[in-house]
Amino acid sequence: MSIEVSNITKIYNQQKALNNVSFKVDKGEIVGFLGPNGAGKSTMMKILTTYIEASKGTAKVSDYNVADSSRDVQKRVGYLPEHNPLYLDMYVKEYLNFNANVYNIPKSRIDDVIELTGLTPEAHKTINQLSKGYRQRVGLANALLHDPEVLILDEPTTGLDPNQLIDIRNLIKSIGKEKTVFLSTHIMQEVEAMCDRVIIINKGEIVADKKLKDLRDNQIQTVIVEFDYRVEEAFLLKLPKVSKVENTHDFVYEITFATTEDMRSHVFDFAHDNQLKILQLNQKNASLESLFRDLTRN
Ligand code: ADP
Repeated sequence: MSIEVSNITKIYNQQKALNNVSFKVDKGEIVGFLGPNGAGKSTMMKILTTYIEASKGTAKVSDYNVADSSRDVQKRVGYLPEHNPLYLDMYVKEYLNFNANVYNIPKSRIDDVIELTGLTPEAHKTINQLSKGYRQRVGLANALLHDPEVLILDEPTTGLDPNQLIDIRNLIKSIGKEKTVFLSTHIMQEVEAMCDRVIIINKGEIVADKKLKDLRDNQIQTVIVEFDYRVEEAFLLKLPKVSKVENTHDFVYEITFATTEDMRSHVFDFAHDNQLKILQLNQKNASLESLFRDLTRN
């Protein structure tokens, strides 16, 4: 197992940032750790990378306990923190060389990571001459220097423009073919673009842990219906397999069903049986984005 988190709680002074969090990440998985700001993502990542200690519970990386085998964990984990700390005046190669020396990493590895992260055309520049996208590549190259088994990336694409975003996503996906990747983000599309699995955290607690494939297969279905006058939500809750009814505006309702079966004809029959006039009836593609919103809405 690459990552194994069991009942981790983290309390900063009085603030509970993580509450009894448990999950596992298998070797080779790319897992998105998704949650709104303040959900506890960075806190979890800092515990896994041995930067801070948990208040309760155990966490293991590559079967080493972060609390009592921190050196062994550090050897096996590469970390790109949220605010990628770079020495801006250094040349790319000089910076990587500096870190390689600190950790006794053979020099040959520097050219390897420069190539792996697509830094070759920019390697002769100082870091402050690089775009944000290339600075992220330097951070990734740095995290990969000691050829770790597990990569932990805290919001690796925040602040990138759309082109840089696609480049970094592709790079992370290709790195993910060789390594276990655990990355945080607050953007659902990000997870869809890069990950095999999503773990959603809200207010320090895990609220979903699913394979993306299963999420797509088990999509809930939303039907948008407009009537010619107001209908009580409670009345629409009598529809078969209905799980939620929301009056979005005027006489328009979003009705969520816990099924993949096309429910429009049921809505039509229901309206007909109850003398309701339908002006509009559409099926909405339930996106992963709406699942995320439902699970993390306060
Ligand atoms: P995320 O990465 O999901 O945005 P964080 O892990 O940074 O969330 O924060 C989780 C909660 O813990 C937030 O309420 C945050 O304010 C709090 N927190 C984070 N770091 C500290 C700290 N060093 N001291 C006190 N509270 C903190």
